[in-house]
Amino acid sequence: MFNKKSVDIAVLGAGPVGLTAAHILADRGMDFTLLERAASPHAHSYALALHPDTLELLDTLGVIAPVLKHALRLRRSTIFDQANKQRAIINYSELSGKYPFLAVIPQSQLETILVESLARKGHKPMWNHRARCITPSAEGVHFTVDHLLEGSTGYAISHTEQEIEKVYEYQTNYMIAADGYESMARKAAGIAFPEIKSSLDYAVFEFETNTRLLTEMRMMVDHDKTHIYWPLGNGRCRFSFQMPPNFAQKHSFNKDHGMVDNQAQESSELSNEHLDHLLRTYAPWFIGSSQDVKWRVMVHFEKHLAESFGHERIWLAGDAAHMAAPAGILSMNVGMLEGADLAEKLSIDTDHDGRQFRLNAYNLDRVTEWRRLFDVDQNIVGEGKAAEWLLRHRSSIIGNIPASGQTYTEILEQLKLHETVAA
Ligand SMILES: Cc1cc2nc3c(=O)[nH]c(=O)nc-3n(C[C@H](O)[C@H](O)[C@H](O)COP(=O)(O)OP(=O)(O)OC[C@H]3O[C@@H](n4cnc5c(N)ncnc54)[C@H](O)[C@@H]3O)c2cc1C
Repeated sequence: MFNKKSVDIAVLGAGPVGLTAAHILADRGMDFTLLERAASPHAHSYALALHPDTLELLDTLGVIAPVLKHALRLRRSTIFDQANKQRAIINYSELSGKYPFLAVIPQSQLETILVESLARKGHKPMWNHRARCITPSAEGVHFTVDHLLEGSTGYAISHTEQEIEKVYEYQTNYMIAADGYESMARKAAGIAFPEIKSSLDYAVFEFETNTRLLTEMRMMVDHDKTHIYWPLGNGRCRFSFQMPPNFAQKHSFNKDHGMVDNQAQESSELSNEHLDHLLRTYAPWFIGSSQDVKWRVMVHFEKHLAESFGHERIWLAGDAAHMAAPAGILSMNVGMLEGADLAEKLSIDTDHDGRQFRLNAYNLDRVTEWRRLFDVDQNIVGEGKAAEWLLRHRSSIIGNIPASGQTYTEILEQLKLHETVAA
């Protein structure tokens, strides 16, 4: 009755991280399958910017040209205080890498580009394929996959039900868990996912405006809150305003609404009047119109870090392993680098011992990097008045800087900050 399938590597989840891992596996000619329970890529802009290091990765995957064609390049970001005084500038143009800028591109568009280029490499995600009953063993991972059929119930308000068309039993040597923050694979591997800092609630507005937009990302630090501005191109921008704790509730977790408080959509906090109030209060420098809102949403951002990035046959990348604050776009960008690294490590050796050796190194590298990005050990120090102010607001700033790796070190230097122990 069940169809049996066997594959060397299963990649779970075709978000940006799973798609990146699949690219590397395709380039290395590996035996893999990419499973995705949804019917298509994400529908919105979500994590909307790519770091310099991610752009270098996308170059090696052969997708840099379409990404840059659709992206807005930002060469600097700024940090302002509650009195609207500029406290710091990050000059991406001074960075040493090949792509010294942030590339603003909606996550939906990035995923579409990755899906199209994967197709040119002869692979495509298995859309509507939901994994469940994941059981790791010493020999590999066994799991069940439901091939879902979509059918609308016909309600005026779109409501989708999913029926199962077919069920498969899968056996795989390794699983790359890129299945997002509720990761079933992480739970099956028994890896804890503790909250490491308090969650943040944001009211997010994207709108078209009649003014010339600043081509920089701006963080507005207001005591213990951080508000964020991004220009998106074509007269459109995003403002994300941090709201009081526990304002948004987690409701549903599908592609369109993950981490979104659906009930809040009708709330006065997302009204045009409240947006005007927030702009006047926290972004008085913004003088354009704000009536033409294209997307408004309340998002609950939690901060988690997996206690390990993998165990035996199941290895984590992206939101499955960490969740960060929104300004730095860290979880997606660093996650894409992780997806690539993991796929690369599984491609170099095909024997179990060789793979385990490399995967243990992956775990060590990842945990070290995230402790650094989350400022867990508080080992960043600095000299001078500007650095002192930044350090007084470290919970708003460190962990919100859009960079990782060597780029992050160079940016800290620009801000007259440095780490006291080698990361
Ligand atoms: C409204 C919203 C706004 C956001 N804004 C920001 C922002 O401003 N800044 C920022 O940094 N981040 C933001 N994010 C988060 C960002 O989208 C994520 O960090 C990013 O998507 C992580 O990529 P990923 O590939 O790790 O996981 P995901 O993109 O979550 O991909 C995981 C995939 O796995 C699939 N999946 C899960 N379980 C299964 C299963 N059992 N079987 C098959 N498939 C499965 C899911 O359908 C999904 O497609 C936002 C997210 C939302 C929802």
